[in-house]
Amino acid sequence: MPKKPSQSSIKKQAAKLRNRPGWDPQQRGSDDIQSKLQSLDQELQNERTYEESASCEACQRAQDEAQDPSALCEHHLQQALGF
Ligand SMILES: [Zn+2]
Repeated sequence: MPKKPSQSSIKKQAAKLRNRPGWDPQQRGSDDIQSKLQSLDQELQNERTYEESASCEACQRAQDEAQDPSALCEHHLQQALGF
């Protein structure tokens, strides 16, 4: 089963990311910050997708068929990929 991150663990992760060396905008180009923010967005998006997929019948079917607990239905797969 995919893990369900709590709201506070997401906030903690975001805080940790901000404290990482290299996050400081004065040391890095702003493009780099942008791409970091985008990957953080993508991470949160994936967590949302897996949270939804846990209660999605089509996802459960896809997981049974693929024998893969991380399989997603077409809708959630597209969501996970950022479409
Ligand atoms: Zn689904």
